[in-house]
Amino acid sequence: MISKGGSEALLQTLVDTARTAAPDYDILLPLFRLLAKVGLRDKKFGQKALELEALDVTLILTRKNLSHSQNLLHCLWALRVFASSVTTGAMLGINGAMELLFKVITPYTQKHTRVIRAATDLLAALLKSKSNSRRAVNRGYVTSLLRLHQDWHQHDTAGAYVPIRRVLLLCLKHIAALRSGREAFLAAQGMEILFSTTQKCLDDKSLGPIVSVVLQILRQCYPKCPLPLVTASSAYVFPVPGTTTSEPPRVLTEEDFEDDGDEEEDKDADSEDVKEEDDDLETDVNKLSSRPALDRPEEELLQYEAMCLELSCSFEELESKPGDDLNSGGTQYANHHHIPTEASPKQHCSNKDQNSWEQEREDTVQTSLLSMVKKGRSPVQRASKKGPGMRPCQNAQCSGLGMDSSGSEIPDIQAFLKEDAWDIDMISCPAMNASFPSFTKSRETVEVIDKLLQTHPRHIPFHDPYLYLAKARRTKSVADFKMMAFPDLWGHCPPPSPQPLLERKCGIQRIKIFEDVQRFIQPSDVINQVVFSLDEPWQDTASNCLRFSSKFESGNLRKAIQVREFEYDLLVNADVNSTQHQQWFYFRVSRTRAAVPYRFNIINCEKPNSQFNYGMQPTLYSVKEALLGRPSWVRTGYEICYYKNHYRQSAAVAGGAPRTCYYTLTFAVTFPHSEDVCYLAYHYPYTYTTLMTHLDILEKSVNPKQVYFRQEVLCQTLGGNSCPLVTITAMPESDSTDHLEQFRQRPYQMITARVHPGESNASWVMKGTLEFLVSSDPVARLLRENFIFKIIPMLNPDGVINGNHRCSLRGEDLNRQWLSPGAPLQPTIYHAKGLLSYLSSTGHSPVVFCDFHGHSQKKNVFLYGCSIKETLWQAQSSVGSSAILEDVSYRTLPKILDKLAPAFTMSSCSFLVEKSRASTARVVVWRELGVSRSYTMESSYCGCNQGPYQGLQFGTRELEEMGAMFCLGLLILELKSVTCSRQLLSRAVALLNAEEDTLDLHLQRCSSSSSSGVPSELDDEPPCMEEIEYSPDSSSDQEGSFSELDRQIQEWAFHKDEGQEDEEGPGQGRKATP
Ligand SMILES: [Zn+2]
Repeated sequence: MISKGGSEALLQTLVDTARTAAPDYDILLPLFRLLAKVGLRDKKFGQKALELEALDVTLILTRKNLSHSQNLLHCLWALRVFASSVTTGAMLGINGAMELLFKVITPYTQKHTRVIRAATDLLAALLKSKSNSRRAVNRGYVTSLLRLHQDWHQHDTAGAYVPIRRVLLLCLKHIAALRSGREAFLAAQGMEILFSTTQKCLDDKSLGPIVSVVLQILRQCYPKCPLPLVTASSAYVFPVPGTTTSEPPRVLTEEDFEDDGDEEEDKDADSEDVKEEDDDLETDVNKLSSRPALDRPEEELLQYEAMCLELSCSFEELESKPGDDLNSGGTQYANHHHIPTEASPKQHCSNKDQNSWEQEREDTVQTSLLSMVKKGRSPVQRASKKGPGMRPCQNAQCSGLGMDSSGSEIPDIQAFLKEDAWDIDMISCPAMNASFPSFTKSRETVEVIDKLLQTHPRHIPFHDPYLYLAKARRTKSVADFKMMAFPDLWGHCPPPSPQPLLERKCGIQRIKIFEDVQRFIQPSDVINQVVFSLDEPWQDTASNCLRFSSKFESGNLRKAIQVREFEYDLLVNADVNSTQHQQWFYFRVSRTRAAVPYRFNIINCEKPNSQFNYGMQPTLYSVKEALLGRPSWVRTGYEICYYKNHYRQSAAVAGGAPRTCYYTLTFAVTFPHSEDVCYLAYHYPYTYTTLMTHLDILEKSVNPKQVYFRQEVLCQTLGGNSCPLVTITAMPESDSTDHLEQFRQRPYQMITARVHPGESNASWVMKGTLEFLVSSDPVARLLRENFIFKIIPMLNPDGVINGNHRCSLRGEDLNRQWLSPGAPLQPTIYHAKGLLSYLSSTGHSPVVFCDFHGHSQKKNVFLYGCSIKETLWQAQSSVGSSAILEDVSYRTLPKILDKLAPAFTMSSCSFLVEKSRASTARVVVWRELGVSRSYTMESSYCGCNQGPYQGLQFGTRELEEMGAMFCLGLLILELKSVTCSRQLLSRAVALLNAEEDTLDLHLQRCSSSSSSGVPSELDDEPPCMEEIEYSPDSSSDQEGSFSELDRQIQEWAFHKDEGQEDEEGPGQGRKATP
């Protein structure tokens, strides 16, 4: 009908009928209803009405019928449909439609509510036009609307007129899109009015639609302001060599900040995480399939020969070389790494440790990795999943923290600590300064650790506090950290069972936002006292507020402000030499009180969404718990949500670019003990010093006759730290020519991790990979005998040390530097690429290259790879992709991992090549070095929503297991390849047979599942219990209102027959017509 000119015909009829001397309402009313119905479906209806002058005649009829509700109602419906076009809406505004409507919209009444509803609907539609909103501000309608809202709120106690009340609020919301509208709203005490009328409705489900709009308005009108920081630049400045000293960080002033934005757009964090639009796909076939030349002179590659001694050196040479890195016996370890103090009981202690590691390894070896395939290593206790409505203490309990209900096993820690006269503060953040005047102090530290270790002989596999201390002294930080975080020094043991995803409490975000708004409305209730800051001196008040610190490796708290007695606003430091990338956090709190819920708000987060909205919890480590024998990072916190707040980047910093919005991560914590020292972090921390400690222990743990383990320095970082490179393979069986030949023929595998310092999960996966590769698991032995592993476990040591989230000390994302890295400025990338180029130039390109990352938006573990065909196909490129030859081998490894690894899922994998990722490791290694299996492996910070770990958050155990499973995947990949040697195949088959059906079964399934199409795009998240409103502008009133008008018309027709057209009883307005 619309396409055949039906709209025009109807509108013409309307104009003709209306212009007669005595318009016939028996024709007009059905015509209006018909117009409303047709108009809903005709996108150009408003324009047509305007051109045919139907707009004018309807407006005239409306004026005439102000006292005739039936006719008026129909006119309003028609106008409502006309006003769906913004131009028509603006025209109606110019012609005085809003004044007219304010005559119809009255204070609370039970009469003519249909008309009032239609009038408010129309008003809301008109106010979507900015010119109308401006007019509304000028005429003082903000105050009128607020009064109407208050009146209806006060009298409609039964909640019978929720739709009218909601639309009144929508009118305010549209006006508040204008800056002048927000100003008028604030001047009219709008914040106070809406806050007080809504405060008690938060829990009332039937008032949900109202509360939701109120929140949008409050968030929109909350005055935007800059973060409470002296400067947006990082508190730490690193003088980059070769660059002139940058201007001193600008001090922000109020004048720099002006709330000028009517529109704000979410800044999409540039990361591997965010799936970009299709136009980001690389469709240039030349770029996709040509291989660029080497990015440096070929002679430069020679330097990497020294990093691949396994290729050139004969083994006699290696073994006789002075200063040899290979170790001959377990005891060497002790001499090598011990702190030079006489009378060291640790010597004995660590030897014992050494033995017990070996014992432990033998124990664990009995269960081969094969037996854990897809079942998962951890005893998954689904029954431990608690329902909602968990009380804070119970929550703390189930997260593995103290408070043993029996109370029997736990000694009185207070008395215990006092007895030994230990200062928990000193224990909890030991100093590490070595050779300087305060040498005694460091000896004290050693003594304290000695004492602690004697009393708490809990040993943690592959960790040693003494070695950590020694390593920490060599770690160079920009801020010259003098302390160590206790958890890093003491070590972490995963809790006995994995923790379930936190169930989101319904309405939690509303409650938190209301608490935030309350600060604005009742500022006198707010303490607002700085209790910690890297930038300015603060008063360490005697009051019993928490005490914060973060001056230790990977720590990055910048400022803490006590807001209420048990609530703190926290700001984390920007990456060094940068003004952004705040997401990672790691800090210490002391002076805790048990059984008190503390609320923490990290108010300068930058990512637009977070797994904290979908079941993820931050991690906590309690020093007292550790001393009680539970040295564990545990997921903790409740009432967690993540939302956009009212802080904005200042105009000066943004420099004309759209301003960064900030997000609040809020969570409550109930600490397990009073007077405890606790550490809180975004994810399980894993410092550079932890890695260096781990590598040394690994090296000492292997049998050098069997395992070739070489640790060397890839390069020095900008910050003066060594970037380690590890080579793992099996020693040749003998020095016979045949065996040496086999040794040098072994294909390479290359794995890197932690280019993004905030992604500590990647390090835990890497830890699992390293430990597995040197283990005596038969699979590991096979892997070593058939491959040479080149591993760079931390591509960005400086970032990790200094608490960065994403960047290097130059403030740049190193995973965007692979196209043309420079030796002076991006040394780790330059040399990682150089090493790969060297391998490639000598015919040893790795079978697989994989870079481990962490993913903040998705669950599970998955791979990103590179495929020309899939990219072209996805981009629907005109280039015939059928002409391009590409084997699908890049899909094999992810498919294998999907079958093997409990946490892994194929469904999130992607093989598209994006332009914005052209300079990442994955794409460059694939394109420039020709490694067809070049991957990024992403591990969620959160946990799994599929597989054996469905519903669980990751612990470090699950991440480490993933690292081991990745290795098993590499073996199976080889077994399935045509080049696989008969010998390997037969040995593997023997191994698999010994392992009965587990792996066999999986292998069969692997090979039988034929190549499927493009991965299905699964929804990232299961539906959340409440709609999460990140942006105050997000609204659901756009689409729904039209069908709503349809419904109103139908309802009218239904009730008309009952003869109660104008007298709606309470409640009828909400009932749907059967
Ligand atoms: Zn990353």
